[in-house]
Amino acid sequence: MKRAIYPGSFDPITNGHIDIVNRARHLFEEVCIAVTHNPAKNALFHLEERINLIREVFAHDKGVTVTSFTGLLVDFATTSNIRTIIRGLRAVSDFDYEFQMALTNRHLASEIDTVFFMTDAKYSYLSSSLVRQLTRLKGDISEFVPKTIEKALKEKVNERNIRTY
Ligand code: ADP
Repeated sequence: MKRAIYPGSFDPITNGHIDIVNRARHLFEEVCIAVTHNPAKNALFHLEERINLIREVFAHDKGVTVTSFTGLLVDFATTSNIRTIIRGLRAVSDFDYEFQMALTNRHLASEIDTVFFMTDAKYSYLSSSLVRQLTRLKGDISEFVPKTIEKALKEKVNERNIRTY
């Protein structure tokens, strides 16, 4: 069975991420979304919350599994017996970082390849941080995330505001 790992922070998952998963599903029978903690990013949702939200989004697709990992991605891939990593590309600005990561991962585990999918043009400027920021400012995010994520974002931002004041 052709399987691939799609790693990321997914804080939260957006329509851009979903677009990449759906494209990848044409090539892979299983796409394993692997949620991780990125120390460079200050997360809004806890890891378990992010996982549960993604599970809700893909509840209808048995070919999409969701898990978390810590440590090196290539180690996780090797123990999971998966040789392909999926990443999404939005604009040229993603390229430098993604190229560096892909070559580093290849250096660490030469048998593992990274496959890039171009996002739909309408999501090319979309990021989780943009969606988080828009929610805080009470902007309309309905075009950017599924309904369940929109609801969770609003609740989380409200909860944070209550705690702050
Ligand atoms: P990370 O912290 O690993 O960058 P992200 O959740 O921000 O985690 O992104 C995971 C992957 O999804 C990355 O390859 C990123 O480029 C891609 N991605 C993020 N947003 C979009 C989008 N709007 N369209 C396509 N790919 C995206």
